[in-house]
Amino acid sequence: MNALHERLLMGAAAPDEPVTLAMAGVISLREHRLPVYRAPIVGLNGPEFRRLLRRFFPALDKAQAAAWLPLDSYPAYTPTVGDEFPDLLELLLEHSRFSGEEARWLAHTIATGCMGRNHLWQDLGLLDRGMLSELLGEHFTTLFLRNVGDMKWKKFFYKQLCGKAGIDLCRAPSCGVCSDYRHCFSHEPGQPLLVAADKVWEWRNAHG
Ligand code: SF4
Repeated sequence: MNALHERLLMGAAAPDEPVTLAMAGVISLREHRLPVYRAPIVGLNGPEFRRLLRRFFPALDKAQAAAWLPLDSYPAYTPTVGDEFPDLLELLLEHSRFSGEEARWLAHTIATGCMGRNHLWQDLGLLDRGMLSELLGEHFTTLFLRNVGDMKWKKFFYKQLCGKAGIDLCRAPSCGVCSDYRHCFSHEPGQPLLVAADKVWEWRNAHG
C-alpha cells in the first residue's frame, strides 16, 4: 500500500469492489507508467476526474490527496503517433456492457492499466488475475467471452487490435503449434503491487 492508495481506499464508498480497487490502483501506480501516461486516469479531464473521486471516493480527504494528485492542473493527454491507448480505449468502449459516465471512466481505467509494464491485474492494483477476469466478465462481457483460450489479458487485447486492423503478427498458423504459446497464455502469476482489500478493512477498523 502506498500513501495515496491508503488515502483513496480509506475514503472509498466500496473499497473491496473490483471497480473501486482498479480505479484506486491506476491512480496510485501512476509513477510506474511512462511520463505520457502519468495522468491519474489517462484521457479524463480535470472536472471528470474530480467527479469520479466524488462518486467512488466520497470521503477522500481532499487536502491530503492534493499532496499527491494533480487536482488543479490535471495533465492533458494528447495521443502521439503509434500510441495504442486510443485504440485500446475504443475497443473497451465498444464492448462496454453499460453506458454512461461511470462505464466510460472504467474503460479509461482499464486502458490506463494496459500502459503499465506488469500483468494487467497487477497494474490495476487488483488482488489476483481472477478479480480482473471477474471485472471484465461483468463489465465487458462480449470481449471477455471472446477470450476462449484464456489468453493473457493484455496480449488478448492487443491481438484484438491487430485483428481489427487486419494485421497478423503471429508466426504460427495456430496457437497450439506456436513456439510463443507460453508468452501468450499463462495464469499471469505474481504478487499484487498494492495491498489486499482485507488489509484495507483491518486498517479502516484500526483507524476508525
Ligand atoms: S500463441 Fe502464437 S499464434 Fe497464438 S496468439 Fe500467441 S503468437 Fe499468435
